[in-house]
Amino acid sequence: MMTLPVLDSCDDCGACCRVVSMPPFRRVFDESGEEAWERLKWDRPDLFTSFLAETRVRRAAGAPSFGTPCFWLDLDTNRCLHYDLRPRACRDFDLGGVDCRDARRRAGIVTPKPR
Ligand code: SF4
Ligand code: SF4
Repeated sequence: MMTLPVLDSCDDCGACCRVVSMPPFRRVFDESGEEAWERLKWDRPDLFTSFLAETRVRRAAGAPSFGTPCFWLDLDTNRCLHYDLRPRACRDFDLGGVDCRDARRRAGIVTPKPR
């Protein structure tokens, strides 16, 4: 049987953050709850305001809403600038899952060899 390579760290990657253009908040407080959006609004009004401003500027400029790096991604370190405030979709993204591996492949990042 084939052994799948183990992926256990996002260090030096950020591939999945390079295609979403903006933090993927759902902005809807439903049953499952985009609690992170509410937290951003109440805990970091400065960041909340800058998020909305950035979104408006991008929309007005006709910037793509997908396929470019998230504006919360630090392109030098490949880390999220506001990791503790990241949206649910980012928290739930499956490290080592199909979408993760696909994002890495598209970004040209070599996955670890089987152990
Ligand atoms: S693509 Fe996978 S390994 Fe890379 S940052 Fe995203 S979840 Fe982590
Ligand atoms: S909010 Fe952070 S973790 Fe989510 S896509 Fe943007 S940079 Fe990545």
